[in-house]
Amino acid sequence: MKAPLLGIDLGGTKTSVCIGDVHGNFCSRQRMPSAASEGPRAWWQRTQKLITGSLRSAEVEFAELAAVGLAAPGPLSTGSGTLLAPPNMPGWVDVPIVTMLQDFLHCPVFLENDANACALAELYFGEFRDVQHLVYLTASTGMGAGIVSNGVVIQGVCDHGGEVGHFVLDADGPECPCGQRGCFEIFCGGKNVADRLRSRIGELGVRTAVLDHAQGDLERVDFACLLQAVREQDAFALQAFEEFTDRLAQGIGVLLMTVNPQVVLLGTIAIHAGELLLEPLRRKLPRYAWAPAVKSCTLAASTLGERIGDLSALAVARAGLDQR
Ligand SMILES: [Zn+2]
Repeated sequence: MKAPLLGIDLGGTKTSVCIGDVHGNFCSRQRMPSAASEGPRAWWQRTQKLITGSLRSAEVEFAELAAVGLAAPGPLSTGSGTLLAPPNMPGWVDVPIVTMLQDFLHCPVFLENDANACALAELYFGEFRDVQHLVYLTASTGMGAGIVSNGVVIQGVCDHGGEVGHFVLDADGPECPCGQRGCFEIFCGGKNVADRLRSRIGELGVRTAVLDHAQGDLERVDFACLLQAVREQDAFALQAFEEFTDRLAQGIGVLLMTVNPQVVLLGTIAIHAGELLLEPLRRKLPRYAWAPAVKSCTLAASTLGERIGDLSALAVARAGLDQR
């Protein structure tokens, strides 16, 4: 493999290390639990071993690496190469992760937040590659977006570009752990939707297929249970899903009027839900954005499937090299 790149996708749950090229071809993909609660020092010791093992299995020498791309949860500073304090990784405060990698690998290391990295992966390797204006929107546990305008990711002055999970859709809405009220994420983040379902089902004592799909155990109610119940036309589920798609369309409408993208790609939930989610969104978008912006935008599920994590890390390395 010519000019191999090392990609690291650091998540709250797992860490993936891959070796590949600028076209998204892999010669090694390995993963391990992040065990983030053990802290960054323990993680780094295990990651060094994983990197060494990956290089050995790919028969790539340390000195051959052209660059390292690291996709990690925000908030982070691309300027100082530091993880600031990711909410799902307690104790990971001001971790100088780029310096750690540079000292170990002696090659250029580039850092990007995970949503931005996914947008770059779609831009380079996805079905919509070569599009110049693209939004990648994640709505899994939390929400965030990677916004590409004129082929470049918008990072903003302090790396808050694309932190759409915390733009406010209703200032009188439910409280968000971030301190604001009515954030996009409080309405549409998968965890928040599931929390709200649980408390409503618990308080109202409704009989709903949502609970049946959780084997009657309120604690096991999640977004997947909601989707199954929606498919069965369960009345409670349909109403909750209607509220969810209204808010999601509202948030996407803001993005359409801000970025005017050619394509909005939805991660996680949309990959599982497909047209069940995309159809109502397309129907509702004209309420939240002007017709030309809606008409010129394709709304689709992410096109890279389970490879997106590894590809996002390679994309960060490629983007870093391109911009040097
Ligand atoms: Zn918030």
